Amino acid sequence: DGHVRFEDVRFGYENERSILNGIDIDVPAGSTLAIVGPSGAGKSTIARLLYRFYDLSGGRITIDGQDIAHVTQASLRAAIGIVPQDTVLFNDTIGYNIGYGRAGATAEDIRAAAKGAAIDRFIDILPQGYESEVGERGLKLSGGEKQRVAIARTLLKDPPLLILDEATSALDSRTEAEILDTLGAVSARRTTITIAHRLSTIVDANQIIVLEAGRVIERGTHAALMARD
Ligand code: ADP
Ligand code: ADP
Repeated sequence: DGHVRFEDVRFGYENERSILNGIDIDVPAGSTLAIVGPSGAGKSTIARLLYRFYDLSGGRITIDGQDIAHVTQASLRAAIGIVPQDTVLFNDTIGYNIGYGRAGATAEDIRAAAKGAAIDRFIDILPQGYESEVGERGLKLSGGEKQRVAIARTLLKDPPLLILDEATSALDSRTEAEILDTLGAVSARRTTITIAHRLSTIVDANQIIVLEAGRVIERGTHAALMARD
């Protein structure tokens, strides 16, 4: 599950200017796609269209063969997990932040769920425990620690499709590599779309597309694109 296709997708905000000019993407279930390109190329827009924040001007997007125009927003939200660049945490415990939406769950319940989903290593590496208060009134987490919490929160929902929208771009390269490594280990067979500014931050992906001004200007494997640079 989690086979994503874009077929000649066209889009412009408020129909003024075209932002995406005929995008074709095929991400087989369980594979990884990296989208790289300069700021303003349309990368985040692709993520927003998958979530159906906006309607397309042309073409179609399917998930497992189903046109998302005919899928309810609720089921899209269940199917897609997005980790943004800047995570805002609730002024509550780490456990609450990870288990957000699980009404009545205690920190212990969340810890057990995280262990069951094999994502406890995102959190166990933190010096703070599940019951530590974080946010404005509690402990201040580093950017990398916050992103670990954000990724764990998203993975706990076990979405077939995971989108990392510049999720590790703001981190130093060592922290970024550590997080991506953990993610690779716990989420190896999930369809994953990674959005990044630079090719150099893409460690591994089954396919990479380079987006510029709303067009795919290059596609290939990491090795092939690096060799061309
Ligand atoms: P990227 O993620 O590659 O930096 P975006 O998808 O965020 O690019 O933006 C693509 C283009 O769409 C940019 O020119 C941006 O200014 C424009 N844009 C983004 N969001 C909106 C919006 N809500 N309304 C109008 N234009 C937007
Ligand atoms: P980010 O790059 O942090 O995801 P956005 O994608 O929301 O931010 O915005 C990207 C660019 O699109 C920015 O330059 C922003 O000024 C512009 N933008 C965002 N919303 C709108 C909008 N409603 N109308 C026009 N431009 C917008």
